Amino acid sequence: MNILILGSGGREHALAWAIRQNPKCDRLIVAPGNAGIRDVAECASLDIMSRAAVTEFAQENAIDFVVIGPEAPLAAGVSDALRAAGMLVFGPSQAAAQLEASKAFTKEICEACGAPTAAWARFSDAAAAKDYIRAEGAPIVVKADGLAAGKGVVVAETEEQALDAVEMIFDGAFGDAGAEVVIEEFMSGEEASFFVLSDGTNCLPIGTAQDHKRVGAGDTGPNTGGMGAYSPAPVLTDAIQQQVMERIIRPTVAEMAARGTPFQGVLYAGLMIADGQARLVEYNVRFGDPECQALMMRLGAQVLDLLHACAEARLAEMTVNWAEDHAMTVVMAANGYPGAYQKGSEIRALDRLPEGSFQMLFHAGTDERDGRVVATGGRVLAATGRGATLAEAHQRAYGLIDAIDWPEGFCRRDIGWRAL
Ligand code: ATP
Repeated sequence: MNILILGSGGREHALAWAIRQNPKCDRLIVAPGNAGIRDVAECASLDIMSRAAVTEFAQENAIDFVVIGPEAPLAAGVSDALRAAGMLVFGPSQAAAQLEASKAFTKEICEACGAPTAAWARFSDAAAAKDYIRAEGAPIVVKADGLAAGKGVVVAETEEQALDAVEMIFDGAFGDAGAEVVIEEFMSGEEASFFVLSDGTNCLPIGTAQDHKRVGAGDTGPNTGGMGAYSPAPVLTDAIQQQVMERIIRPTVAEMAARGTPFQGVLYAGLMIADGQARLVEYNVRFGDPECQALMMRLGAQVLDLLHACAEARLAEMTVNWAEDHAMTVVMAANGYPGAYQKGSEIRALDRLPEGSFQMLFHAGTDERDGRVVATGGRVLAATGRGATLAEAHQRAYGLIDAIDWPEGFCRRDIGWRAL
């Protein structure tokens, strides 16, 4: 099978690493890829937001199967263009990607299918939104409706913060993504992520994880794209997973199908768990980064069979082979991130790492220049370990971190503190 993966982050490196191990994978291209992905796949420069460019590239390279990593090309309908050209694709249509691209859409789906989530209201003008906030009081959550790379959500502790957030969003801080505002009841509890494959009809859970969004130790400081994650998430017990499948995931998948926009791909449910009850915070329509790195480490080569069966609507015949293991991924970011940071610093000692099926350094923002690996992004590396216990996975992930020579980078030293 000739496979094309779209994306260039740690998530796509982990997907490529796992898929490469499957003997059914003949040729593997990742576009655009990064310096680490080059070790497991061919990299090709390609505008992955262009439906025409991606379709033409896939046809020219006799690709049999396309896996779309990030949300932006999904929301832009790249999967629809590929399918229209007769390609097999893992990833939802533009219509089904609305589950991530519009928060109000997801809330409507929840309402229609009875999935538990926070009480909410939507507004397209500031005055009405502010009246609602004054009536409800704080804490309260204000969100730009559309995609804002994790920055469009304000969990307001005071009424004033919430009112400011409304102003900021309607003032255009997030462009079109802020044309509408969704205001939600504040939910307390413990957050966790649940990953389920759906082929439009059938659902197959493929793992749980918890991530660390804040930049600083003890989950403090500004929000980031994610500084680390571990899988499984202890809070998502078998009983709660079953509850989430019955009350949230299956009803959502059925509702999407009933509307004529079946969801095919990975449904990533962000959940809030309190008193043994789970409520939906949000859906994403792709793997999380860095959660994907931990999941891929645990799933390994079978990932190709699972994603392929998902795209071919054969999930009913699949099961996941689980090892009783744990994985942890620790992100190294450029000094200064998530604020301003320098690009172009060299990362050394990469050829001396003890990599294998129990530990892998996935690259997120790297490039190769004159035979040297340099940092090109905020989040740059994701050191991932696997073991029989979370403590073992932790030791292996940090073992990689400690072997890297990159003074211009930093990581959190306390990933997994809650579970450890
Ligand atoms: P963006 O759209 O900007 O990319 P996002 O998709 O990450 O953001 P959400 O997942 O909806 O946005 O919210 C981000 C975070 O805010 C959540 O992970 C959670 O910690 C917090 N949050 C969101 N909604 C609520 C809520 N109703 N109650 C409590 N916390 C919430």
